[in-house]
This record gives sequence, C-alpha cells and structure tokens, in this order.
Amino acid sequence: MKVAIVGAGLSGLSCAFELKKYGIKPTIFEKRSEVGDTLDYAVSTLRIFMKFNGSPRKYLKKNYGLNMVPLNPLKKIVMIGPSNRAILKGNLGYIFKKGLEPYSMENQIAKQVNLPIDFDSSISVDNIKNDFDYIVWATGIHTLSKKLNLWTTTFSTYARVATILGNFKTDSTNMWLNREYARNGYGYLLPYGEKKACLSLIVNNIPASELNYYWKKFWEREKFKWTVLETRDMEYVAGFAKPIKVDNIYFVGNTAGLTENIVGSGAMNAIESGIMAARSMVKNLDYNDLMADASEKVKKNHDVRKFLNTLDNKGFDRLIAFLDLPVIKQIIYNNPLYKTTHSSPIIKLYNKFINNY
Ligand SMILES: Cc1cc2nc3c(=O)[nH]c(=O)nc-3n(C[C@H](O)[C@H](O)[C@H](O)COP(=O)(O)OP(=O)(O)OC[C@H]3O[C@@H](n4cnc5c(N)ncnc54)[C@H](O)[C@@H]3O)c2cc1C
Repeated sequence: MKVAIVGAGLSGLSCAFELKKYGIKPTIFEKRSEVGDTLDYAVSTLRIFMKFNGSPRKYLKKNYGLNMVPLNPLKKIVMIGPSNRAILKGNLGYIFKKGLEPYSMENQIAKQVNLPIDFDSSISVDNIKNDFDYIVWATGIHTLSKKLNLWTTTFSTYARVATILGNFKTDSTNMWLNREYARNGYGYLLPYGEKKACLSLIVNNIPASELNYYWKKFWEREKFKWTVLETRDMEYVAGFAKPIKVDNIYFVGNTAGLTENIVGSGAMNAIESGIMAARSMVKNLDYNDLMADASEKVKKNHDVRKFLNTLDNKGFDRLIAFLDLPVIKQIIYNNPLYKTTHSSPIIKLYNKFINNY
C-alpha cells in the first residue's frame, strides 16, 4: 500500500506510527526542515475536554502503544474576569510542550515512528494525488478542506503567543476573560518551568493589524511585569469539515476541524485521528464512522462557545462567580464523569441562577 502523509505534526506522525505497526512505511512530507514548530508553546489537555479520565500518557499507551510524557500535571486553574476570579483545584489535566525539543509532543512521536521524513517539501495535493493509494492530509490548516467545500468556519481569531520569563508554579495555569482586550476570545498562561511560560492572547474577528492594540491593553489592564523573550502572531480559523474522507484523501487533525472551539484543544484529537486514518486504510473501516464521536463532540462544544459569545463583561464576571460556587466546582471539576459536552444542563442552571441573581 502506497501512503503519502503530508505534514509531520501530531496527526501525520501518529498516522505513520500506526501504519508502521502493520508493516506499511508511508512517505512523509514536511515543509519545515525539522520536526516541530520553531515557535515555543505549551498545550494543556484538560480532563473536562477529554473522553478519558486520568492521564493521557496512560490512555495513549494502553490504547495505541504510544509513549507520550507530559511536562507536568495541571492542578490549579485561576480564572480571571474583569472583576471576579475563581480558583479551581484538582486533577485538572496535563501540560505538554510543543516545539523543537526532543521532549516536545511531535518529537516524542517522531522518535517512535523512526522513519525517514522528506523535509523542506511543501506539497500540494495535485502534485501527488495520482502517485499514492492514499493521501493523509495533515497540514494543520483548513485550506484544502475549504477548497473542496467540506469546511464550515465557526470562529476566526488572531493569536499572539509569547515566551515570557518570571516566577511560575509549574502545575498552575491562568485564564483571562475580558472583552476589552480579548473580545470573545481569552488570554492564558501555561508554564514550561519555574522561570519560563507561554502567554497567549486570542482575539476573535479582528484584522491582524489590530492585534497589537489588544495585546497592549491586555498587559496594561492586568499589570503584568514579566519579561517577553519572543512573540509570534498567527491566524487560527476554527471550524469543521464534513465528510473527513473524500476519494483517497484522509483529513486528520486541524484539517478535519477536530479542534474544539471553547479553548482550542486539538492535540489529542489530532493524535487519534491520525491513528484512526491508519486503521481505516489497513482494516478497510469507515474513517468518518471511526471519528464520528469526536466530530460530534467538537460540535457540542461549539454550543458552549456560542453561549460564551453571548456574554458581556458583566456576564463573564457572573460566570466566574458561578464557577466558583462550591456546588458547581463539585459538579464540574471534582466529578470525573463531567465533560464539557454535558454542559447544556449547566448552562440552563447558570441562566436560572443569573435570572435570580
Ligand atoms: C498557540 C497554540 C496553542 C494551542 N494550545 C492547545 C492546547 O492547550 N491544547 C490542545 O489540545 N491543543 C492546543 N493547540 C492545538 C494543537 O496544537 C493542534 O490541534 C494540533 O497541533 C493539530 O495537529 P495537526 O497534526 O493537525 O497540525 P500540526 O501539529 O500543526 O502539524 C502540521 C504540520 O504540517 C506541516 N505542513 C503544513 N503544510 C504543509 C505542506 N503543504 N506540505 C508539507 N507539510 C506541511 C507543518 O509544517 C506542520 O509540521 C494549540 C495550538 C496553537 C497554535
């Protein structure tokens, strides 16, 4: 079987990892000259977004034989609104590194794949579509899905991601909600270590030229004193593709729209979609069916995003006060059964609480 994988990120490499188990050695194309983004950033896998409880390390090892070591467990989230804050504690998730280091997520998978990668190859589907039995489109962007009319955009954003120096707790993250500087988006901080962290601001529906204005407001309003080592701006378009396999092309990870819209978690779905694409090829299974549950969950989470988009700053403060209520913390954060896809009763409860506020 001749398989081309376009993109050596999380989804493409996971697909190669699974194919190799069945003795198939795909041709892997990567436009960069090495595995991993030159931009430093961290990703969190929050339990309430995951289909499993416990550690992703155990889940990936048990289900797929993939070793993936996180940087740190996440035990505390501080949610900061315009006037209120909530402190959430518990086994909330894990922090992973993305980037060039050997311990970054993509390099951990690349090591286990241990196959040659055709670097510095920016591939267009027309160049290769007749040369392979299957093409796995793992480029991390929705351009081809859109061109083939498979794509629906739900949320367009610009993000600034900064590496900052300061003093940080390695198991703690901050999230800021404030329309003044993030509109319907948010700011968040994820530490890499005690002295270094990643600070991001995601602002929706603005031109790139306005991002600097919102970034300045973010720093002024929150009175940050950290030192910025570097920043990178990027556009991120959230949405979903349907179907996610057309002819001999499999769409995986972001190209399939498998990143949820609440806080942009897509790493675990990227890995699983790559693995499922491989299984679909090898075992002749329907890939759309294999990923139906994950696609459905992205859509359900989009309903939570739509609800968040209705809130003004007073609404953010009320939401944060609501999330700080012991009973709500018990239902959401200390209850292993609660997932964001179960949010509609919580949103109803919130609306009831607010109406009686
Ligand atoms: C700043 C930031 C913060 C994030 N935070 C989180 C988080 O906290 N939690 C979470 O779960 N997810 C998070 N994500 C999302 C997560 O990183 C993505 O969902 C995941 O990386 C998607 O994997 P992918 O394989 O689809 O794409 P990628 O990992 O982006 O890989 C795509 C690869 O394809 C290559 N490529 C692109 N075009 C071509 C081409 N034409 N030819 C050859 N190669 C090509 C690229 O160079 C890249 O290596 C974050 C993303 C960003 C950018």
